[in-house]
Amino acid sequence: MNIKINENFNNIKETYLFSEIGARVRKYVAENPDKEVIRMGIGDVTLPLPQPVVDAMVKASKEMGVKETFRGYPPEYGHDFLREKIASHYASLGVDIKADAIFVSDGAKSDLGNFIDILGNNTVIIPDPVYPVYVDANTMNGNDIIYVNGTSENGFLPLPDAIPTKDISGAVIYICSPNNPTGACYTYEGLKAWVDFAVETGSLILYDSAYEAFIDNSDIPHTIYEIPGSFEVAVEVCSFSKFAGFTGVRCGWTVVPDTLMAGETKLCKLWMRRQATKFNGVSYPVQRAAEAALSEEGISACMENIKYYKRNAALLSELLDSKGIFYTGGKDSPYVWLKCPNNMGSWEFFDKLLNEVQIVGTPGEGFGVNGEGFFRLTAFGSYENTVKAIERLKNFL
Ligand code: PLP
Repeated sequence: MNIKINENFNNIKETYLFSEIGARVRKYVAENPDKEVIRMGIGDVTLPLPQPVVDAMVKASKEMGVKETFRGYPPEYGHDFLREKIASHYASLGVDIKADAIFVSDGAKSDLGNFIDILGNNTVIIPDPVYPVYVDANTMNGNDIIYVNGTSENGFLPLPDAIPTKDISGAVIYICSPNNPTGACYTYEGLKAWVDFAVETGSLILYDSAYEAFIDNSDIPHTIYEIPGSFEVAVEVCSFSKFAGFTGVRCGWTVVPDTLMAGETKLCKLWMRRQATKFNGVSYPVQRAAEAALSEEGISACMENIKYYKRNAALLSELLDSKGIFYTGGKDSPYVWLKCPNNMGSWEFFDKLLNEVQIVGTPGEGFGVNGEGFFRLTAFGSYENTVKAIERLKNFL
């Protein structure tokens, strides 16, 4: 064919991370069929959907099979019942978000990638290590990326003073808190530093709060809109994936307040246009299920699941505390991000852990250069396997 392709795709780094992990684990299992491998590398949930969510999805699916209650295309921005429910979730956090600033989507990943459709080629500021979608989506668009280093010194919570240049105007800044992969969370003070910086430099923050439900600590904001000034500089992207176990169901939302202005243009108008053109909404049964997740009964059922994962995370944290190993996360997050002992490299530690105690984690190097020498364990496995893994790690670490 004589068509042109988007050459920026040639600049995306191939991620061998999960395929390489899979290959090494398969090889090990084939050579050691009698050994039981415990997988603590995945970022996917494992508990089934809470009952109120299932009931709502079944009920809505049945409505779709009856002439009087059948529904065709859903509204592009989400059904009002769900937008209002999400607005009431924000109200419970003490934040006033209007339902029409909420755009329902099929998940956070799509919106985080798609939002740059409405922006020009701005400088993009991304912390490293990081959830790889931000980097790859911007590389696809040919944007220049400036990385800010997350290190053990700053607790993997870099602040604007870590930006390697002072020459910033009108940048797009990605912040994820609680963070994947590091589990680290910005306090009010840390997040305020970013909001203040965005205000001063005329920048936009894309705030990823996919793990918000894991936050217990009252010093950690649940939403960026708790920070003064954020309504002028921040878009928030959130998801039902981790809160309600929707990784396979698919539903999330993005908040675009009508106070966000690029010059004379309201960003929400551009986002409405983009969504109406390229997105046809989330299915009715899924939106009813999401609504149920935010009902009183749904929240308590979802939080039971979160509590289950958090118990696993707490066990991992206790172990690392007892061994004096540096780590972040583990408290308001399903992730524990630890320094590989004896200055081992990430992959070296991966192999040692697999070969000696049959535990699979994720080498930090796969999340950016600052991840080298670090390792991610997740709390999304079963309690029984987590306890078993901890017994093995007690002697190993
Ligand atoms: N944001 C972060 C930081 C994630 O870790 C993930 C998934 O692991 C997502 C977004 C994707 O969320 P969703 O399932 O809603 O697309």
